[in-house]
Amino acid sequence: MSFDSLGLSAELLRAISDQGYTEPTPIQRKAIPVILEGKDVMAGAQTGTGKTAGFTLPLLQRLSERPAAKGRRAPRTLVLTPTRELAAQVAESIETYGRHLPLRSAVVFGGVKINPQIDKLRRGVDILVATPGRLLDHANQKTVDLSQIEILVLDEADRMLDMGFIHDIRKVLALLPSNASRQNLLFSATFSSDIKQLANRLLNNPELIEVAQRNTTAERIEQIVYPVDKGRKRELLSHLIGEQNWRQVLVFTRTKHGANRLAQQLEKDGLTAAAIHGNKSQGARTRALAGFKNGDVRVLVATDIAARGLDIDQLPHVVNFELPNVPEDYVHRIGRTGRAGNEGEAISLVCIDEHKLLRDIERLLKRKIPSTVLDGYEPDPNIKAEPIQNGRNGKGGRSSQPRKRAAGGHRGKPSGNSNAPKAARRKPAGARAKPQSQRSRASGGQEKAALLGGGYRGK
Ligand code: AMP
Repeated sequence: MSFDSLGLSAELLRAISDQGYTEPTPIQRKAIPVILEGKDVMAGAQTGTGKTAGFTLPLLQRLSERPAAKGRRAPRTLVLTPTRELAAQVAESIETYGRHLPLRSAVVFGGVKINPQIDKLRRGVDILVATPGRLLDHANQKTVDLSQIEILVLDEADRMLDMGFIHDIRKVLALLPSNASRQNLLFSATFSSDIKQLANRLLNNPELIEVAQRNTTAERIEQIVYPVDKGRKRELLSHLIGEQNWRQVLVFTRTKHGANRLAQQLEKDGLTAAAIHGNKSQGARTRALAGFKNGDVRVLVATDIAARGLDIDQLPHVVNFELPNVPEDYVHRIGRTGRAGNEGEAISLVCIDEHKLLRDIERLLKRKIPSTVLDGYEPDPNIKAEPIQNGRNGKGGRSSQPRKRAAGGHRGKPSGNSNAPKAARRKPAGARAKPQSQRSRASGGQEKAALLGGGYRGK
């Protein structure tokens, strides 16, 4: 099937062919005709499926069919995203696909100066992409007029709710014309009951579109688990990168501190590496991402929140240096590879502390992930499971636990032959892992705030 049969205009088809796309992805095939008809949509699509073009192309067409007044004008379409990176990526897609159309767009998010955004809004835009916090800042300063919005898109809605944006979303909705007079599009990788509630409030008789089975991983991703002791993960990672000559690998850690430390250690191993997380300035994050995209940086180490919205084409390898606390994050993480039909590989380095997390992930996926013990990296059977450190309270991965057992591995000798100090291997008296849900909720608040342009108000 080609793009021609979807009902898109010649200008959009030209922009698509400029990109070298030959056929629409499944979400595009399903979503584009429905959105062109003006219907509300609730779409289940993970990142990497081509969902951005799936909503951007038809909304550009609908807007261009009804030209706006000349000069100063209020936005007619609003796209809300959870993170700055995703906002920037969506804005870039709008520019790319709309290059042959006379429409104007702008993106607003926090962490950067507000004045250039005000100037751009003042000159008039048709499409506005925004993170909720900065958008409300503009609304409070009366530098944006949301009364003319005809199309509303909530992108990665599940993530927005995870990040505690529900109140901000409600405030934004109150500034828009009524539901019935708008077209509403909601995209989400997962459908919790909170998402369904939001959808009920927001959508009018929506068309349901799902491309991959809910909470399943994209088809073309090969997944594998390598059991390994925590203290040897870094060594194994460097070994895999070198031996298999990976040129571009995205590595996930649970904490900002863990990301920094791992990037530094990999540099010491002679690999170019950079960390990307919420304590980094917007400039540092943009530079790290640019270096990664152009090949200067071979390993990008990221936390879950920082990785949202990273759009990196054809990323071949994703490594879970540490498994995420929330099983759904595993799906998001590995969605970074195998994008839009390319094959990808997702590798998880799993130590004994993480067995429960792995079981939770496999339960969500409804399948077992193949597991292989690599020669020379066999886990030490004497090491006992310990509670997982989360780096909460902004203390960067440290807690009351002994420092050498902080997330990311102790600094003792490789423990393959039981050289790790005994005390470090023993479970602290009385220590018990908290339920996963409790742990995951306790972490990440500060990072969310840092990443979200001042809009994060906590849960
Ligand atoms: P998304 O899921 O929107 O983040 O898109 C994932 C990636 O797929 C982006 O890098 C797009 O440029 C790319 N892409 C989107 N649509 C197509 C298509 N029809 N053919 C090939 N690549 C595409």
